Amino acid sequence: MSKLAMSPIAPNEALTAPLMSISKHPTSSAITGAHNEFICGARLDNLVGTYTAVTGLIESLKDDAGLSKDMNIRIAACFDNEECGSESAQGAASAVTEWFLRRMASGGHASAFEEAVSKSYLISADQAHACHPNYRAKHEENHQPMFHGGVVVKTNVNQRYATTGITHAILKVIAEKAQVPLQNFVVRNDSPCGSTVGPILSAKLGLQTIDVGTAQFAMHSIREMTDTSGVMHAINLFTTFYNTLPGVLSNFKM
Ligand SMILES: [Zn+2]
Repeated sequence: MSKLAMSPIAPNEALTAPLMSISKHPTSSAITGAHNEFICGARLDNLVGTYTAVTGLIESLKDDAGLSKDMNIRIAACFDNEECGSESAQGAASAVTEWFLRRMASGGHASAFEEAVSKSYLISADQAHACHPNYRAKHEENHQPMFHGGVVVKTNVNQRYATTGITHAILKVIAEKAQVPLQNFVVRNDSPCGSTVGPILSAKLGLQTIDVGTAQFAMHSIREMTDTSGVMHAINLFTTFYNTLPGVLSNFKM
């Protein structure tokens, strides 16, 4: 209640408050490592995805000439309740996303929304499990995301991640333009696979999607750890994505 006492609401006026665990250690959130190459803190999964997506969108707006010619609407959407399945009024499984997108397409012809979806591409950005040197066997031998190895592309044949061969190929073109390295993650097939908002939005909207993330340790713990270069790579990738997607899709041969 000491935090509440610092707010304009007196403790005896509060009707309810969310309760969450936080570390009180002074260095619980810090840039750390011998070369300042790591970030420690709570809820990096998925504040990193949120921060890099929104920053990438803002950075992309600096290219005035490109923006004035862009026929697409650039969107960064951040959702609550992903960790418990997204089934909530404000979660990715709600109708809200489609409502927003339909409203943006309104005023056009009758099938404007459906046509816009078929020309769109969604990047689902959520943190990825880095391979821990003490637990290497937890990862497939050839799918071990490393710190400072670039943005992780997550694939699962059961579509727990929404990545397909085509969406992966499209992102490779964008990553090359951004000069951002990509690395691959596939969960061991004797291990259950986590999921993200990617497959949910992809299925609800019929929207081609890729799942990516920045490598991290200690996911969902009170003190998670990620790499600073991953944040830089993700921002660069998302900025280039917003700036180049229409051209990449129109030049793509299948
Ligand atoms: Zn998570």
